[in-house]
Amino acid sequence: MRPNRLNPLFGGLTTLAGVGPKVERLYRRLLGREDEARLLDLLFHLPTGIIDRRARPKLQDVVPGSVVTVAVTIDRHRPSPPNRPRVPYQIYASDETGELILTFFYARRDYLEKLLPVGERRYVSGTTGLYDGMLQIVHPDRVVDDAGLASLPLIEPVYPLTEGLSLNQVRKAVEAALQRLRELPEWQEPTWFAREQFPSFAQALRTLHRPATPDDVVPTSRAWTRLAYDELLAGQLALALLRAHIRRPLGRATPGTGELRRKLIAALPYSLTLSQTRAIDDIAADLAKPERMLRLLQGDVGSGKTVVALNAAAAVIEGGRQAALMAPTEILARQHFGTIAPLAQAAGMTLAILTGRERGRERDAMLERLRQGEIELLVGTHALFQEDVAFRDLGLAIVDEQHRFGVHQRLALAKKGEAVDMLVMTATPIPRTLVLTYFGDMDISELREKPAGRQPIDTRTLPADRLGEVTEAVGRALKEGRQVYWICPLVEESEKIDLAAAEERFAELKQTFGAWTDLVHGRMKGVEKDAAMARFAAGETRLLVATTVIEVGVDIPQASIMVIEHAERFGLAQLHQLRGRIGRGSARSTCLLLYRAPLGETAKARLEIMRQTEDGFRIAEEDLRLRGEGDVLGTRQSGVPGFRIARIESHGGLLAAARDDAQLILARDPTLATERGEALRHLLYVFGRDEAIRLIRAG
Ligand code: ADP
Ligand code: MG
Repeated sequence: MRPNRLNPLFGGLTTLAGVGPKVERLYRRLLGREDEARLLDLLFHLPTGIIDRRARPKLQDVVPGSVVTVAVTIDRHRPSPPNRPRVPYQIYASDETGELILTFFYARRDYLEKLLPVGERRYVSGTTGLYDGMLQIVHPDRVVDDAGLASLPLIEPVYPLTEGLSLNQVRKAVEAALQRLRELPEWQEPTWFAREQFPSFAQALRTLHRPATPDDVVPTSRAWTRLAYDELLAGQLALALLRAHIRRPLGRATPGTGELRRKLIAALPYSLTLSQTRAIDDIAADLAKPERMLRLLQGDVGSGKTVVALNAAAAVIEGGRQAALMAPTEILARQHFGTIAPLAQAAGMTLAILTGRERGRERDAMLERLRQGEIELLVGTHALFQEDVAFRDLGLAIVDEQHRFGVHQRLALAKKGEAVDMLVMTATPIPRTLVLTYFGDMDISELREKPAGRQPIDTRTLPADRLGEVTEAVGRALKEGRQVYWICPLVEESEKIDLAAAEERFAELKQTFGAWTDLVHGRMKGVEKDAAMARFAAGETRLLVATTVIEVGVDIPQASIMVIEHAERFGLAQLHQLRGRIGRGSARSTCLLLYRAPLGETAKARLEIMRQTEDGFRIAEEDLRLRGEGDVLGTRQSGVPGFRIARIESHGGLLAAARDDAQLILARDPTLATERGEALRHLLYVFGRDEAIRLIRAG
């Protein structure tokens, strides 16, 4: 249950004066809420800057365009002429050095006469301008008398807005929300916080919304940093709780004999790279421990993750248990099956495949063998979660291209056995700063080097009107016996049009290059897709026109040329994934990025980065820079909420501290039962991580 003290913060915005259901809907849009917008959401809507009203010049010293607060005497009113309401109402005011016109459109006379009575002194604050050579302020932001001067906010926050909500409305609402904000029990470690001179949570919010200097509202201010650290700690604590939960019941030690692995490695036509060996050793050590393994294997496209996964499977199978390898697409599952089969055979492991396509009696027979434990390694797609899929004793779940699966899907696979060890693999290189954010203290192995003998890919960018030349060059390469991918974009919004374009391109190329040409796209039946891929892999066809179905994982080392049409429409990560299909063999590879001019700034930057580097980590960092952090992992798919307050650029350095802090907290107080633990529960609620609390209770 949510601590009572938080109730005011979780109240809806409609509890504020002046916010009815209609306006509340605008706030939902502004605050990115699907359902009710709460006071807390509003308080987390931090200013992007300030208006500084501290300048108090005499009228003759005012620089037109600046924001000032001036002391003036009201000289006369010039109301709009009768029946001409469009002509503004003007009020003439002055000090001993000059004159100022205050201009109002569609204003009520009685209201203005009360606000700015003739003969009296008023303090007026607003943005100045010139009109006909006269200094003027149109609709001053503030007008106060001597008594009101003391409470005139000299520095006011500026907020991002949405259509229909004015700055003043938002400020008022925020101010009202601040009135209801009470001190919460401190959840941060007191000595560290005192040393860093961080304000309390409530005080930090007050400082940010009632800034005293411009420096108060920058992300590196004490107040902002405190809240960012709160947010990071909440995230790390939730991840640590999740992990502790997953690790229970304790894993089982599966040390293995090493026999299968020896045979497997002996059967490889190449020798392992240093980082492959290291990853294999890390995994073996995890498996031998009684704790459950939760490890991320990161490696750029083509770095050789599959053989590492296979080794992990072999280790578990040596221990008498089973393993499963799940891939996001049919093509990938079949490819894994194809590459693994000869190795598995050489080592003496039994292997089967299960996708949506296996049906009927054969499927039943296979599932029966799986239940009996006769099948030791099962490769497949989402079909692995199906209810009637049961293992005798699943010991290891391997998830390939993990960003394609949601968290709950990974967990579903883990539930097919008891204390299943997890290995997730990704070729989307995740910048170091983000790994921690999204995976917390998950163990990580990285494959940093490419297998020996790889040559750099020559990447060029060309405008689409040079298609003719490109086709000719492709023709020459085909005659030399080389193999070519020709990629056409396929994006969801315009799927039909894109598909038609791909088919048209295929028809054209087929006219020129005849039977060498083939087509594969996502709308084809599975069997047809496989057949097309198999023909290309066997070298029967040499030019494969494809949509992005070949994006992830496809491995045909002898293909050495890739043409990408409309390269400007692809994201950086996707271009990198696509290009990773070539440059895998010993031949020199070429990638041609065709674009439709004119290019926008971001598209231009993307293509330039592609030309400059093949380093997936650098590309990921650049992608992050160009896109902002939300999108890199396809966060919507994996269900990882973004951050509201922490900014990776400013606060990324705090992540490691937050992780250590979270670990320390749980080591001392695993059920958050101490006084500080109670306070930390508040923190988890405040940042929407309270689901993790349920994991504690579930024990
Ligand atoms: P990815 O990490 O993208 O999944 P794969 O596991 O598909 O990469 O491996 C890419 C290619 O590299 C495959 O053809 C594989 O046989 C080959 N390979 C893997 N490890 C090595 C190595 N150490 N030396 C040479 N080739 C290797
Ligand atoms: Mg792969």
